[in-house]
Amino acid sequence: MAYQENSAMTESAGSGYLCTSLVAAAVALALALCVPLCPAQEMAQGQGPAPRLASDPHADSHIADAIRQVSAERIRQTIEKLVSFQNRSTISAQDEASIKAGTGIGAAREWIQAEFERYSKECGGCLEVKTDRFTEPPADRIPKPTEITNVYAVLRGTDAEQAKRIVLVTGHYDSRNSDTLNGTDPAPGANDDGSGTAVSLECARVLSKAVLNKIKFPATIIFLTVAGEEQGLNGSKHFALMAKQQAWKLEAVLNNDIVGGNRGPQQDASVVRVFSEGLPAAASEAEIKRIRTLGGESDSTSRELSRYIADVGRSYDAGVKPLMIFRLDRFLRGGDHYSFNQQGFAGVRFTEFREDFNHQHQTPRTENGIEYGDLLKFVDFDYVAHVARLNAATLASLASAPAPPTNAKMQAKDLENDTTLTWEPSAGAAAYEVVWRSTKAADWEYVQTVSSGTRATLKVSKDNVIFGVRAVDAAGHRSLPVVPEPER
Ligand SMILES: [Zn+2]
Repeated sequence: MAYQENSAMTESAGSGYLCTSLVAAAVALALALCVPLCPAQEMAQGQGPAPRLASDPHADSHIADAIRQVSAERIRQTIEKLVSFQNRSTISAQDEASIKAGTGIGAAREWIQAEFERYSKECGGCLEVKTDRFTEPPADRIPKPTEITNVYAVLRGTDAEQAKRIVLVTGHYDSRNSDTLNGTDPAPGANDDGSGTAVSLECARVLSKAVLNKIKFPATIIFLTVAGEEQGLNGSKHFALMAKQQAWKLEAVLNNDIVGGNRGPQQDASVVRVFSEGLPAAASEAEIKRIRTLGGESDSTSRELSRYIADVGRSYDAGVKPLMIFRLDRFLRGGDHYSFNQQGFAGVRFTEFREDFNHQHQTPRTENGIEYGDLLKFVDFDYVAHVARLNAATLASLASAPAPPTNAKMQAKDLENDTTLTWEPSAGAAAYEVVWRSTKAADWEYVQTVSSGTRATLKVSKDNVIFGVRAVDAAGHRSLPVVPEPER
């Protein structure tokens, strides 16, 4: 039967695939029962092999091994150290004496840089540790010209051409208390955003160690920690602009902000929210018009990235599942991913399921029996470790994958119910996959492999579904999908 062909293809695609007979049975059943089960009957029709379910998990055992090295204990130590600097406000002290005394943002910055350098030493110098330093002029929350420093480590890709592709994880190491202009009283920032900073550092530690254990990432991974978030996203704005001006091929930004899993009774530690923009912040008027015409409101590159993370969440046992939220951010709130979105890059925000607003942006104190403050004791280190595993698996998957197909087109010059897609080859691709979903479905539903060539015709009407095309390498690593442009 048709599924057998798929099965054979899957095996030849390499050991990276984990295809269970259970999944095969589920697919066969779903296809057999397509009339009652499928949102559109025609979705399962087609020439050649029948489509598989897009929810089929697939993991690379080397990546699974690498993310197991994430340590809740290491994360606890990192956050404890960050809290020890007392106040990491962007306007807190950064003079030599304060750095020596271990207080203020300057001391935090120096420690993060030393930590990246230590990881690099442990992997034979595999990380390039850098700073992006600039002076922010006075503004609402910046009373006087202030030096802001982003600290980052680069794990350069192993393939000369693919290394130009970059995936990035970030968290902000600055903190605040009840007063944004207070740079002296305690502002522990254990969750906001000691947790996100710890995720970036732990990803750097674990993935640099993986390289030592002979994993190869053809594309480049950047582990970033920024400052200035609480004063107006200043650090991330500067960094994203630099990436844009230097024409970086930045494919994905994972921003972790408030991933401490605050230990409240209504917390759901089994999920982490992944926020993504719908209409791209950087879209021109012409692009908005095209999105409106095509019904592309839920297919920004950021949203494709969030679907990719959902796929990673099904394929790897991170300990936490991504919960896609189709919204830029929480109401009246912002974050560093937006700085990247504004420059046209795909970027999402990870945040715990339920925030406790008594435990963020608060000067530590007890009032009327309520304890306020972003304190170490409210952080669930196991939860942060789970989020770090999900991030590390996403970074490793993207950095292992071929480049997404370019110039993907959908033929729309004739009125016909079949759909023909074409695209240009991606370096490192062994095959391609066409994915599609009902226009009202949140995530990809079906996938069909294209084993040779860069063209596919499917017996599925383009008018009824949304298509994407992705590249797959010989070991089964998948690129981000691209939505084909209609061509007249
Ligand atoms: Zn924050």
